[in-house]
Amino acid sequence: MSFRNLGLAWLALAAVSSIGFAQPRVPVREITQIEGDLYRARNGGWYTVFLVTPAGIILGDPINESFSPWLKGELDTRFPGKPVRYVVYSHSHFDHAAGGAVFADTATFVAHENMLRNMDGRYPQMPGDMIDRNDNGVIDREEIDIPTNARPGLCGMGPGFFDTIDRNSDGVATPQELQQHIVRPSIVYNDRMRIELGGKIVELVHPGLNHSNDATVMVFPGERAAFATEFIADAFVTDNSRSLPSACGPFDGSPLAEWIKSYRTVEDLDFDILVTGHGSALSDKAVVRDTRQFFEDLRAEVAAGMAAGQSLEQLKESVRLEKYSGWANYERLRAYNVEAAYRNLLTYR
Ligand SMILES: [Zn+2]
Repeated sequence: MSFRNLGLAWLALAAVSSIGFAQPRVPVREITQIEGDLYRARNGGWYTVFLVTPAGIILGDPINESFSPWLKGELDTRFPGKPVRYVVYSHSHFDHAAGGAVFADTATFVAHENMLRNMDGRYPQMPGDMIDRNDNGVIDREEIDIPTNARPGLCGMGPGFFDTIDRNSDGVATPQELQQHIVRPSIVYNDRMRIELGGKIVELVHPGLNHSNDATVMVFPGERAAFATEFIADAFVTDNSRSLPSACGPFDGSPLAEWIKSYRTVEDLDFDILVTGHGSALSDKAVVRDTRQFFEDLRAEVAAGMAAGQSLEQLKESVRLEKYSGWANYERLRAYNVEAAYRNLLTYR
């Protein structure tokens, strides 16, 4: 859920405060095989996938403009004569979607149709409770600072982030400044789409609204794998995929029912290996089911408390979600999840 594309920022701050060490200044970069011709590429805490076919490569997120040239160099060396033919965006947030320009001479850029809307000059759907509080259509300093200061290391961005996107230093960041390094998709789809290249297939599925409103899940039928990011494992996931969500604002502006629907959509897909955009370990469908059940339990318990007339402060004490006490970030994020669910249910009732 974070945007750490410039030096040490968000995840690094989280690491300092929660784990006690800082991220290295140059992120760890590596490529690992998932299954057959499907690989995972890593930039620190961020991951993407690519499928090698005889006719070229289908790549997921380019991640950012410092990582993508490294990745292109690795692909050119390891798979000569197989250029990147498709870039498929997991969602439009620039900590995953930036950096595609190095592939632009050979690749077609594909995304869910809402990504074009998020890049049409209006304030885009943003994570981390960075909402357009004054509704003026640009990103003001306080729209970053309010969530950053309210929950340091959890929501908003790292210190100094606003100045890195306000490139002309006029005190406001336009959506175009925010998205400067993102190549716009040239093909968009609505519900599902299939890409065939070199005899291989990738199915694209829009799961619904969740962490973003323009998510795509990539399914690789031949490898029995799926790639999905952020709504299943957000930036706080290091190794254990069973982790409480960071729960900023009212859950990133999507109704809880839509989050739950998103998980069910993924559960219904035919795959065995779940590849996430955060978290070092490969995962499986059970994680999706368990995360869906967490959201269902959270919604049910908070709704019951609200129906019984409990205040937010009472709910934060009474809703314990003990079943999830062994999950990562339980102690740190339980009360925030209760608050996010409470605000979500008030907003979308
Ligand atoms: Zn995101």
